[in-house]
Amino acid sequence: MKLKKLNKSTYIFTYDNIKEYSTNVFLIKKKNRVYVIDTFCGTKSMEPITNEIGDKEICVINTHFHWDHIFGNSAFKDAIIISHKKCRKILEESWDSQLKENERYVLGSAEKCIPNLTFKSEIMFEEDGIEIFYSPGHTEDSISIFDHESRILYVGDNLEKPIVYVENSDIDAYMSTLKKYIEYDADKIFAGHTLNLTTEDILDTINYLEALKRGDKLEFDTEHERKVHSDNVNMVFTKGEITNGKLKD
Ligand SMILES: [Zn+2]
Repeated sequence: MKLKKLNKSTYIFTYDNIKEYSTNVFLIKKKNRVYVIDTFCGTKSMEPITNEIGDKEICVINTHFHWDHIFGNSAFKDAIIISHKKCRKILEESWDSQLKENERYVLGSAEKCIPNLTFKSEIMFEEDGIEIFYSPGHTEDSISIFDHESRILYVGDNLEKPIVYVENSDIDAYMSTLKKYIEYDADKIFAGHTLNLTTEDILDTINYLEALKRGDKLEFDTEHERKVHSDNVNMVFTKGEITNGKLKD
């Protein structure tokens, strides 16, 4: 795990335990409360974060239901854990199957611990300038966070380089979310597996989704991108079901 302190309130914890994917967990410290964005993969993986928090009130945010963003939730059993309404519902049903399939990645334990505060459209923590909003895309339950003080936008897995995973067949909703991101005019954009994204990356992703929807034949440089793209094509054209935490490679 690597820790980067971006400014006095923003910490980025980057984990390299899963082959091919570095995964980010973000800690935002505000006056009365701290926010933890995603919980990676087990209680032990969250120790560096709980050590950093002290005794402030904790608000955990799950950007979406995938196992590599929620398995550390039980390290924050007594905290508020926020997600979209759909995320809690999916996790109620899929936690155990996701755990069975991905147990080898768990650090410490990954006891079932689902979000206890849900919303449909948005939540605003006015005093802290933290806005949490519904942003369907990568999955149907994806949410994003905008810190109005530092002007940082956290997008979960809705953006990823070199290519996004489309696990929801509603491409129009995905493109609307990406267009909304541009309106925030953020100073920095961070994703679950990629840091320092730009408006150009958002535009590239919109172009990719448009091509995917049209069924264009696309060429890629790497085997990894070809594989992800072919999974995306299957998702869009067979209207596949949510894959309940299937490892993304
Ligand atoms: Zn994901």
